[in-house]
Amino acid sequence: MALKSSANNLKGAVLNFNDDAKDDYLPSISEAELSDEKVLQELDQLHGELRDQVIVLGHHYQQDDIIRYADVTGDSLALAREALNSTRRYIMFCGVHFMAETADILKRPDQTVILPDLHAGCSMADMANRQHIDQAWATLQEWTKARIIPVTYINSDAKLKAFVGDHDGVICTSSNAEKIIQWAFEHGEKLLFFPDQHLGRNTCYKMGIPLDQMVTYNPTIWNGGLTPEQVAKAKVILWYGYCSVHQGFTLEQIKRVRAERPETTVIVHPECCFDVTQNADVAGSTNFIINYIRQAPAGASFAVGTEINLVNRLARECPDKTIFSLSPYQCLCTTMYRIRPRWLLASYRAIKAGSPINVIRVDEKIKRSALVALERMLAIS
Ligand code: SF4
Repeated sequence: MALKSSANNLKGAVLNFNDDAKDDYLPSISEAELSDEKVLQELDQLHGELRDQVIVLGHHYQQDDIIRYADVTGDSLALAREALNSTRRYIMFCGVHFMAETADILKRPDQTVILPDLHAGCSMADMANRQHIDQAWATLQEWTKARIIPVTYINSDAKLKAFVGDHDGVICTSSNAEKIIQWAFEHGEKLLFFPDQHLGRNTCYKMGIPLDQMVTYNPTIWNGGLTPEQVAKAKVILWYGYCSVHQGFTLEQIKRVRAERPETTVIVHPECCFDVTQNADVAGSTNFIINYIRQAPAGASFAVGTEINLVNRLARECPDKTIFSLSPYQCLCTTMYRIRPRWLLASYRAIKAGSPINVIRVDEKIKRSALVALERMLAIS
Protein backbone atom coordinates (compact mmCIF):
# COMPACT_ATOMS: atom_id res chain seq x y z
CA MET A 1 0.00 0.00 0.00
CA ALA A 2 1.40 3.41 -0.94
CA LEU A 3 2.16 5.88 1.82
CA LYS A 4 1.04 8.85 -0.23
CA SER A 5 2.17 11.53 2.16
CA SER A 6 5.67 10.24 2.76
CA ALA A 7 8.46 12.65 1.98
CA ASN A 8 9.36 10.44 -0.98
CA ASN A 9 5.98 10.61 -2.64
CA LEU A 10 4.59 14.10 -2.38
CA LYS A 11 2.51 13.90 -5.52
CA GLY A 12 0.02 11.56 -3.86
CA ALA A 13 -0.46 13.92 -0.93
CA VAL A 14 -1.54 16.71 -3.27
CA LEU A 15 -4.27 14.49 -4.72
CA ASN A 16 -6.16 14.68 -1.44
CA PHE A 17 -6.35 18.44 -1.46
CA ASN A 18 -9.27 20.38 -2.80
CA ASP A 19 -8.73 22.42 -5.94
CA ASP A 20 -8.97 25.80 -4.24
CA ALA A 21 -6.20 24.90 -1.86
CA LYS A 22 -3.99 23.64 -4.68
CA ASP A 23 -4.36 26.96 -6.49
CA ASP A 24 -3.20 28.74 -3.36
CA TYR A 25 -0.13 26.60 -3.00
CA LEU A 26 3.16 28.49 -3.05
CA PRO A 27 6.69 27.22 -2.49
CA SER A 28 8.58 28.12 0.63
CA ILE A 29 11.18 30.88 0.94
CA SER A 30 14.49 29.46 -0.26
CA GLU A 31 17.62 29.30 1.85
CA ALA A 32 19.41 31.37 -0.80
CA GLU A 33 16.87 34.13 -0.21
CA LEU A 34 16.89 34.01 3.59
CA SER A 35 19.09 32.18 6.12
CA ASP A 36 17.50 30.12 8.93
CA GLU A 37 18.52 32.79 11.40
CA LYS A 38 16.87 35.59 9.40
CA VAL A 39 13.75 33.48 8.99
CA LEU A 40 13.39 33.23 12.77
CA GLN A 41 14.06 36.96 13.17
CA GLU A 42 11.34 37.92 10.69
CA LEU A 43 8.99 35.35 12.21
CA ASP A 44 9.52 36.86 15.66
CA GLN A 45 8.55 40.22 14.23
CA LEU A 46 5.48 39.12 12.22
CA HIS A 47 4.28 36.83 15.01
CA GLY A 48 4.19 39.84 17.33
CA GLU A 49 2.80 42.24 14.72
CA LEU A 50 -0.09 39.98 13.65
CA ARG A 51 -0.87 38.57 17.09
CA ASP A 52 -4.39 40.04 17.08
CA GLN A 53 -5.22 38.40 13.76
CA VAL A 54 -3.46 35.03 13.84
CA ILE A 55 -3.70 32.16 16.31
CA VAL A 56 -0.93 29.58 15.88
CA LEU A 57 -1.86 26.04 16.84
CA GLY A 58 1.01 23.59 17.35
CA HIS A 59 0.49 19.84 17.45
CA HIS A 60 2.52 17.99 20.10
CA TYR A 61 4.64 16.32 17.39
CA GLN A 62 5.90 19.58 15.88
CA GLN A 63 9.56 20.54 16.02
CA ASP A 64 10.68 23.06 18.66
CA ASP A 65 11.23 25.92 16.18
CA ILE A 66 7.51 25.77 15.41
CA ILE A 67 6.29 25.14 18.97
CA ARG A 68 8.01 28.37 20.07
CA TYR A 69 5.42 30.31 18.01
CA ALA A 70 2.41 28.23 19.09
CA ASP A 71 -0.24 30.07 21.09
CA VAL A 72 -1.67 26.68 22.00
CA THR A 73 -0.25 23.17 21.86
CA GLY A 74 -2.32 19.99 21.95
CA ASP A 75 -3.66 17.02 20.02
CA SER A 76 -5.72 17.41 16.87
CA LEU A 77 -9.17 17.77 18.40
CA ALA A 78 -8.07 19.99 21.28
CA LEU A 79 -6.45 22.32 18.75
CA ALA A 80 -9.53 22.44 16.53
CA ARG A 81 -11.62 23.34 19.57
CA GLU A 82 -9.14 26.07 20.53
CA ALA A 83 -9.51 27.51 17.06
CA LEU A 84 -13.24 27.71 17.54
CA ASN A 85 -12.84 29.59 20.82
CA SER A 86 -10.44 32.10 19.34
CA THR A 87 -11.62 35.52 18.20
CA ARG A 88 -8.70 35.75 15.76
CA ARG A 89 -9.41 35.62 12.05
CA TYR A 90 -6.61 33.36 10.86
CA ILE A 91 -6.00 29.88 12.24
CA MET A 92 -2.41 28.87 11.45
CA PHE A 93 -2.59 25.11 11.93
CA CYS A 94 0.87 23.66 12.47
CA GLY A 95 -0.14 20.03 12.15
CA VAL A 96 -1.12 17.85 9.21
CA HIS A 97 -3.82 18.10 6.56
CA PHE A 98 -6.66 16.17 8.23
CA MET A 99 -6.24 18.29 11.37
CA ALA A 100 -6.55 21.53 9.43
CA GLU A 101 -9.62 20.10 7.69
CA THR A 102 -11.20 19.35 11.07
CA ALA A 103 -10.54 22.94 12.13
CA ASP A 104 -12.14 24.17 8.88
CA ILE A 105 -15.23 22.04 9.58
CA LEU A 106 -15.58 23.39 13.14
CA LYS A 107 -14.53 27.03 12.58
CA ARG A 108 -16.78 30.07 12.37
CA PRO A 109 -17.56 31.40 8.87
CA ASP A 110 -15.41 34.50 9.41
CA GLN A 111 -12.28 32.45 10.13
CA THR A 112 -9.70 31.11 7.66
CA VAL A 113 -7.62 27.98 8.25
CA ILE A 114 -4.06 27.86 6.93
CA LEU A 115 -1.77 24.83 6.77
CA PRO A 116 1.72 26.32 6.26
CA ASP A 117 2.82 23.45 4.00
CA LEU A 118 0.07 21.75 2.02
CA HIS A 119 2.30 18.70 1.62
CA ALA A 120 2.02 17.97 5.34
CA GLY A 121 -0.27 14.96 5.11
CA CYS A 122 -0.68 11.81 7.21
CA SER A 123 0.35 8.40 5.90
CA MET A 124 -2.35 6.70 7.96
CA ALA A 125 -5.13 9.02 6.78
CA ASP A 126 -4.08 8.35 3.19
CA MET A 127 -4.59 4.59 3.66
CA ALA A 128 -8.38 4.89 3.37
CA ASN A 129 -10.05 6.87 0.63
CA ARG A 130 -13.73 7.40 -0.09
CA GLN A 131 -13.80 5.12 -3.10
CA HIS A 132 -12.36 2.19 -1.13
CA ILE A 133 -14.70 2.77 1.79
CA ASP A 134 -17.76 2.94 -0.52
CA GLN A 135 -16.65 -0.31 -2.14
CA ALA A 136 -16.05 -2.07 1.19
CA TRP A 137 -19.38 -0.85 2.52
CA ALA A 138 -21.26 -2.19 -0.51
CA THR A 139 -19.56 -5.60 -0.14
CA LEU A 140 -20.29 -5.83 3.58
CA GLN A 141 -23.93 -4.80 3.08
CA GLU A 142 -24.30 -7.51 0.47
CA TRP A 143 -22.77 -10.15 2.75
CA THR A 144 -24.58 -9.48 6.01
CA LYS A 145 -27.96 -8.22 7.16
CA ALA A 146 -26.44 -7.29 10.55
CA ARG A 147 -26.38 -3.56 11.30
CA ILE A 148 -22.84 -2.24 10.85
CA ILE A 149 -21.79 1.04 12.46
CA PRO A 150 -18.93 2.81 10.65
CA VAL A 151 -16.43 4.50 12.95
CA THR A 152 -13.57 6.60 11.63
CA TYR A 153 -10.57 7.69 13.63
CA ILE A 154 -10.22 11.48 13.52
CA ASN A 155 -6.98 10.84 11.57
CA SER A 156 -8.88 10.58 8.29
CA ASP A 157 -9.85 12.60 5.25
CA ALA A 158 -12.94 14.87 5.56
CA LYS A 159 -14.71 12.71 2.95
CA LEU A 160 -14.53 9.73 5.32
CA LYS A 161 -15.86 11.82 8.18
CA ALA A 162 -18.71 12.76 5.85
CA PHE A 163 -19.26 9.06 5.06
CA VAL A 164 -19.79 8.17 8.72
CA GLY A 165 -21.98 11.23 9.16
CA ASP A 166 -24.18 10.02 6.29
CA HIS A 167 -24.29 6.39 7.53
CA ASP A 168 -25.27 6.85 11.20
CA GLY A 169 -21.66 6.40 12.25
CA VAL A 170 -19.30 8.43 14.34
CA ILE A 171 -15.73 9.75 14.68
CA CYS A 172 -13.36 8.86 17.52
CA THR A 173 -10.03 10.04 18.88
CA SER A 174 -7.44 7.96 20.71
CA SER A 175 -8.72 9.47 23.98
CA ASN A 176 -12.40 8.61 23.53
CA ALA A 177 -12.21 5.46 21.36
CA GLU A 178 -13.56 3.18 24.12
CA LYS A 179 -16.62 5.33 24.79
CA ILE A 180 -17.33 5.71 21.08
CA ILE A 181 -17.02 1.98 20.38
CA GLN A 182 -19.33 1.24 23.29
CA TRP A 183 -21.86 3.67 21.77
CA ALA A 184 -21.46 1.96 18.38
CA PHE A 185 -22.29 -1.46 19.87
CA GLU A 186 -25.36 -0.01 21.56
CA HIS A 187 -26.55 1.01 18.07
CA GLY A 188 -25.41 -1.90 15.90
CA GLU A 189 -24.17 -5.47 15.88
CA LYS A 190 -20.90 -4.99 14.01
CA LEU A 191 -18.29 -2.30 13.67
CA LEU A 192 -16.36 -1.14 10.61
CA PHE A 193 -13.36 0.74 12.04
CA PHE A 194 -10.99 2.76 9.82
CA PRO A 195 -8.29 3.70 8.99
CA ASP A 196 -6.13 2.53 11.95
CA GLN A 197 -6.34 -1.20 12.57
CA HIS A 198 -4.19 -0.94 15.72
CA LEU A 199 -6.28 1.61 17.58
CA GLY A 200 -9.38 -0.43 16.68
CA ARG A 201 -7.88 -3.77 17.71
CA ASN A 202 -6.24 -2.50 20.90
CA THR A 203 -9.39 -0.72 22.07
CA CYS A 204 -11.82 -3.53 21.22
CA TYR A 205 -9.59 -6.11 22.93
CA LYS A 206 -9.38 -3.93 26.02
CA MET A 207 -13.18 -3.86 25.99
CA GLY A 208 -13.33 -7.65 26.07
CA ILE A 209 -13.77 -8.52 22.39
CA PRO A 210 -11.56 -11.54 21.58
CA LEU A 211 -9.16 -11.37 18.65
CA ASP A 212 -10.99 -14.19 16.83
CA GLN A 213 -14.01 -11.89 16.54
CA MET A 214 -11.98 -9.29 14.65
CA VAL A 215 -11.05 -9.45 10.97
CA THR A 216 -8.96 -7.11 8.84
CA TYR A 217 -10.22 -5.69 5.55
CA ASN A 218 -7.34 -4.97 3.16
CA PRO A 219 -8.52 -2.67 0.33
CA THR A 220 -5.67 -3.75 -1.94
CA ILE A 221 -7.01 -7.35 -2.04
CA TRP A 222 -10.18 -8.55 -3.78
CA ASN A 223 -13.13 -8.28 -1.34
CA GLY A 224 -10.69 -7.01 1.27
CA GLY A 225 -9.23 -10.52 1.52
CA LEU A 226 -12.33 -11.67 3.42
CA THR A 227 -15.17 -14.15 2.85
CA PRO A 228 -18.87 -13.74 3.76
CA GLU A 229 -18.40 -16.45 6.42
CA GLN A 230 -15.57 -14.54 8.11
CA VAL A 231 -17.62 -11.35 8.15
CA ALA A 232 -20.67 -13.23 9.52
CA LYS A 233 -18.57 -14.47 12.47
CA ALA A 234 -16.82 -11.16 13.15
CA LYS A 235 -18.00 -8.40 15.47
CA VAL A 236 -15.29 -5.98 14.33
CA ILE A 237 -14.01 -5.31 10.81
CA LEU A 238 -10.74 -3.40 11.00
CA TRP A 239 -9.34 -1.45 8.07
CA TYR A 240 -5.80 -2.34 7.04
CA GLY A 241 -4.26 1.02 7.90
CA TYR A 242 -1.54 2.02 10.33
CA CYS A 243 0.65 4.89 11.45
CA SER A 244 4.10 4.56 9.93
CA VAL A 245 5.58 6.26 13.00
CA HIS A 246 3.94 4.20 15.76
CA GLN A 247 4.33 0.97 13.82
CA GLY A 248 8.10 1.51 14.25
CA PHE A 249 7.90 0.36 17.89
CA THR A 250 8.42 -3.35 18.42
CA LEU A 251 8.23 -6.09 21.02
CA GLU A 252 12.00 -6.60 20.67
CA GLN A 253 12.58 -3.02 21.79
CA ILE A 254 10.46 -3.62 24.90
CA LYS A 255 12.41 -6.79 25.68
CA ARG A 256 15.69 -4.90 25.38
CA VAL A 257 14.50 -2.16 27.77
CA ARG A 258 13.28 -4.79 30.25
CA ALA A 259 16.68 -6.51 30.15
CA GLU A 260 18.88 -3.40 30.24
CA ARG A 261 16.83 -0.96 32.32
CA PRO A 262 14.36 -2.98 34.43
CA GLU A 263 13.38 0.08 36.51
CA THR A 264 11.89 1.73 33.38
CA THR A 265 8.17 2.06 32.67
CA VAL A 266 7.28 1.37 29.03
CA ILE A 267 4.50 3.74 27.95
CA VAL A 268 3.11 3.64 24.40
CA HIS A 269 0.42 5.12 22.15
CA PRO A 270 -2.52 2.86 21.10
CA GLU A 271 -1.53 3.34 17.43
CA CYS A 272 1.31 0.90 18.23
CA CYS A 273 0.70 -2.71 17.20
CA PHE A 274 -1.04 -5.25 19.44
CA ASP A 275 2.13 -7.00 20.70
CA VAL A 276 3.60 -3.70 21.76
CA THR A 277 0.55 -2.37 23.61
CA GLN A 278 0.02 -5.75 25.31
CA ASN A 279 3.59 -5.89 26.58
CA ALA A 280 3.94 -2.23 27.56
CA ASP A 281 3.26 -1.19 31.15
CA VAL A 282 0.83 1.53 30.08
CA ALA A 283 -0.84 2.59 26.82
CA GLY A 284 -2.80 5.75 26.14
CA SER A 285 -3.34 8.77 23.92
CA THR A 286 -0.78 11.55 23.48
CA ASN A 287 -2.42 13.61 26.23
CA PHE A 288 -2.52 10.58 28.49
CA ILE A 289 1.21 9.98 27.97
CA ILE A 290 2.06 13.63 28.68
CA ASN A 291 0.00 13.76 31.87
CA TYR A 292 1.21 10.38 33.09
CA ILE A 293 4.86 11.36 32.75
CA ARG A 294 4.39 14.85 34.18
CA GLN A 295 2.64 13.45 37.25
CA ALA A 296 5.20 10.71 37.91
CA PRO A 297 7.52 11.19 40.90
CA ALA A 298 11.05 12.54 40.47
CA GLY A 299 13.51 9.81 39.56
CA ALA A 300 11.00 7.82 37.47
CA SER A 301 12.24 6.38 34.17
CA PHE A 302 10.20 6.06 30.94
CA ALA A 303 10.73 4.42 27.56
CA VAL A 304 8.15 6.16 25.40
CA GLY A 305 6.53 4.75 22.27
CA THR A 306 5.43 7.86 20.45
CA GLU A 307 6.77 10.57 18.11
CA ILE A 308 10.32 11.70 18.85
CA ASN A 309 9.74 15.48 19.00
CA LEU A 310 7.29 14.99 21.85
CA VAL A 311 9.58 12.50 23.63
CA ASN A 312 12.55 14.89 23.46
CA ARG A 313 10.44 17.82 24.63
CA LEU A 314 9.14 15.84 27.62
CA ALA A 315 12.72 14.88 28.48
CA ARG A 316 13.75 18.54 28.51
CA GLU A 317 10.64 19.59 30.42
CA CYS A 318 11.15 16.96 33.17
CA PRO A 319 14.89 16.93 33.92
CA ASP A 320 14.21 15.13 37.23
CA LYS A 321 13.08 12.03 35.28
CA THR A 322 14.75 9.78 32.72
CA ILE A 323 12.77 9.89 29.48
CA PHE A 324 13.86 8.30 26.22
CA SER A 325 12.39 6.83 23.05
CA LEU A 326 11.50 3.14 23.13
CA SER A 327 12.95 2.87 19.62
CA PRO A 328 16.65 3.39 18.91
CA TYR A 329 15.60 4.70 15.47
CA GLN A 330 14.04 7.96 16.71
CA CYS A 331 10.56 7.60 15.19
CA LEU A 332 9.86 10.92 13.49
CA CYS A 333 6.63 11.95 11.76
CA THR A 334 8.23 13.17 8.55
CA THR A 335 5.03 14.75 7.26
CA MET A 336 4.47 16.72 10.45
CA TYR A 337 8.13 17.75 10.16
CA ARG A 338 7.36 19.42 6.82
CA ILE A 339 6.01 22.43 8.72
CA ARG A 340 9.21 24.44 8.97
CA PRO A 341 9.79 28.00 10.09
CA ARG A 342 10.34 29.21 6.50
CA TRP A 343 6.93 27.81 5.49
CA LEU A 344 5.36 29.48 8.46
CA LEU A 345 7.02 32.74 7.47
CA ALA A 346 5.72 32.48 3.87
CA SER A 347 2.19 32.10 5.27
CA TYR A 348 2.65 35.05 7.63
CA ARG A 349 3.98 37.26 4.82
CA ALA A 350 0.94 36.40 2.68
CA ILE A 351 -1.46 37.31 5.49
CA LYS A 352 0.31 40.61 5.93
CA ALA A 353 0.05 41.25 2.19
CA GLY A 354 -3.71 40.60 2.36
CA SER A 355 -3.77 37.44 0.23
CA PRO A 356 -3.39 34.33 2.41
CA ILE A 357 -1.85 31.20 0.89
CA ASN A 358 -2.14 27.50 1.76
CA VAL A 359 -5.77 27.93 2.79
CA ILE A 360 -7.74 24.78 3.68
CA ARG A 361 -11.31 24.81 2.36
CA VAL A 362 -13.45 21.71 2.81
CA ASP A 363 -16.31 21.42 0.31
CA GLU A 364 -19.58 22.65 1.92
CA LYS A 365 -21.53 19.43 1.34
CA ILE A 366 -18.74 17.31 2.83
CA LYS A 367 -18.46 19.75 5.68
CA ARG A 368 -22.16 19.42 6.57
CA SER A 369 -22.04 15.62 6.67
CA ALA A 370 -18.72 15.53 8.54
CA LEU A 371 -20.07 17.98 11.09
CA VAL A 372 -22.92 15.56 11.89
CA ALA A 373 -20.34 12.89 12.79
CA LEU A 374 -18.12 15.30 14.73
CA GLU A 375 -21.05 16.66 16.74
CA ARG A 376 -22.21 13.12 17.45
CA MET A 377 -18.75 12.33 18.82
CA LEU A 378 -18.68 15.46 20.95
CA ALA A 379 -22.11 14.63 22.38
CA ILE A 380 -21.03 11.07 23.30
CA SER A 381 -17.63 11.91 24.81
S1 SF4 B 1 2.24 10.43 13.70
FE1 SF4 B 1 1.25 8.90 12.37
S2 SF4 B 1 -0.96 9.27 12.56
FE2 SF4 B 1 0.12 11.10 13.39
S3 SF4 B 1 0.24 12.50 11.63
FE3 SF4 B 1 2.16 11.33 11.64
S4 SF4 B 1 1.73 9.58 10.26
FE4 SF4 B 1 -0.25 10.47 10.79
